[in-house]
Amino acid sequence: MPASRKKTERIFRGIPVSAGVCRGKVRVLVDPKDDAIPRYAVADEDLEKELKRLDRGLAETRKEILEVQRQVASTLGVKDASIFDAHLLVLEDPTLIEEVTRRIQQDKLNAESAFHEFAEKYASTLSESEDEYLRERAGDMRDVSSRILANLMGKRRPSSLKDLSEPCILVSHDLTPSQTAMMDKRMVLGFVTDAGSRTSHTAILARSLRIAAVVGLSTISQELGNGQEVLIDGYNGLVVLNPTDQTLFEYGQIVRRHASLEESLREGKDKAATTRDGFRIALSANIESPDDIESVKSSGAEGVGLFRTEYLFINRQKPPTEEEQYDAYHKVAVALHPCPVIIRTLDLGGDKILSHLNVPQEMNPFLGWRAIRFCLEEKEIFRAQLRAILRASVAGNVKMMYPMISGLDELLQANGLVDEVRAELRAKGTPFDEKLEVGSMIEIPSAALASDALAKRSCFFSLGTNDLIQYSMAVDRLNEKIAHLYEPTHPAILRLIHTTVQAGKRRGIWTGICGEMGSDPQLTPLLLGLGITEFSVASSAVPTIKYLIRQTTMSEAVALAEAALECESGAEILERSRSYARKIAPTLFEDDKV
Ligand code: PEP
Ligand code: MG
Repeated sequence: MPASRKKTERIFRGIPVSAGVCRGKVRVLVDPKDDAIPRYAVADEDLEKELKRLDRGLAETRKEILEVQRQVASTLGVKDASIFDAHLLVLEDPTLIEEVTRRIQQDKLNAESAFHEFAEKYASTLSESEDEYLRERAGDMRDVSSRILANLMGKRRPSSLKDLSEPCILVSHDLTPSQTAMMDKRMVLGFVTDAGSRTSHTAILARSLRIAAVVGLSTISQELGNGQEVLIDGYNGLVVLNPTDQTLFEYGQIVRRHASLEESLREGKDKAATTRDGFRIALSANIESPDDIESVKSSGAEGVGLFRTEYLFINRQKPPTEEEQYDAYHKVAVALHPCPVIIRTLDLGGDKILSHLNVPQEMNPFLGWRAIRFCLEEKEIFRAQLRAILRASVAGNVKMMYPMISGLDELLQANGLVDEVRAELRAKGTPFDEKLEVGSMIEIPSAALASDALAKRSCFFSLGTNDLIQYSMAVDRLNEKIAHLYEPTHPAILRLIHTTVQAGKRRGIWTGICGEMGSDPQLTPLLLGLGITEFSVASSAVPTIKYLIRQTTMSEAVALAEAALECESGAEILERSRSYARKIAPTLFEDDKV
């Protein structure tokens, strides 16, 4: 079409979840869900072509599976790689090929639709079988089927993130934490998704990996196509399609301003996190693996306030052994010694699903078999982790905490198991830190309200505000449609934090924060005023939060918090907190618009 080639700029607004500006070519990743599968009639003269397309789709899938099998064999061993034999067999199944070919030829149905119909029928029959072996084949069928459909539709599967061959801006309906954890930063310049929110683990990982990201864009995966030029503004949550020269010029300036701000923040990174009036605050980092040690060190953090150990369990075929876990925990502890390293016991479930642990699908995974609930039932997995953590504690700077404690009973059970493991290690003469401190995460409203009882049996509290807010306000932390209802400064949240801190103080234990609320510089003085004495934030946020702490006067922060506790509206609390933060650190907030 000889129409004007000039491309128009378009701006999409979403939720900014990971800072940075980047620009590149779009690569759309689409999970071939039922409703996305095209269905159309094929003309008689095109039937041959359609069958060839099916053949090509099967051949490409075979190549892909062989490649995955090769990779798994080299990283995990031949035994694990053999599970892909079942996938290869599906591809050669004569009934499948005959039946799909017949549907295309006789009913003139396109290959994707014909294939999908058959695969679904086959998989449901298998999944209803009495025979366990056959039931398991239903999963293989679905897995292979989604690969074939992706190939037929010319789309890449999210799971093929590892083999992206050129740098791109990833566009997807959604991304799971395990997919995000697999991202290669050289290939993924930034990503944007239809779904998601600030406190999803995908967003948290993006910040940890320092990949610019905007989520909650509703339909972006349908609006953008492969090869289009886009710019992502991870500061303000904008995605600009076909940016004009003027836009690029403006963004050049924004990037320079941020770079110089970051540079000046880095200059203060080795100073202590002490308020103007001399209150020393512990500022540490959240990590997902030993690979994050260098970022922790270079951020100026004093240790780790939250080691999310579940990432050691993700993207693999089997749980890690006790030895592998010990190595990982010990490595982090030694590398950061003498700074404390708080290892959180396994928090799988919610959006962190591990296929190898046979966790059934749930209607409400965030309200389901998650974290400590899982560990208290799957005792062998839990004991192995406890042994690994206790053994690593010989480094002298390890602390441990439990996620998702809802009340005293769970805490007592978990402490009971830790005592048993301690006794076991003592009996074997295996050294560990007898003084290892064990804390509780406060991330369920019932725990905050029962914090008096928990404080008697915990060495410290760490507020998991990501969950605390979702559970208190009934706002799913993953759902972009209700992201605007997720309100960290809601009066109820402040009261829960206050209740927890006061309960801790009465028993002489400290309360920290490791949820994302702690990374919001607008809220730092408020949280200080509420009595939080430890902040654990993404490494990338450490310099900013340290700067804010150093600008705050504790007596003013306490007055701010006292006034906030009297407020009836979250918006008013936010406004008070924001205006104090702006007053003491104006340079930090200059770019909060576009
Ligand atoms: C939290 O809930 O605030 C927290 C730190 O834990 P996670 O984000 O891993 O659920
Ligand atoms: Mg949590």
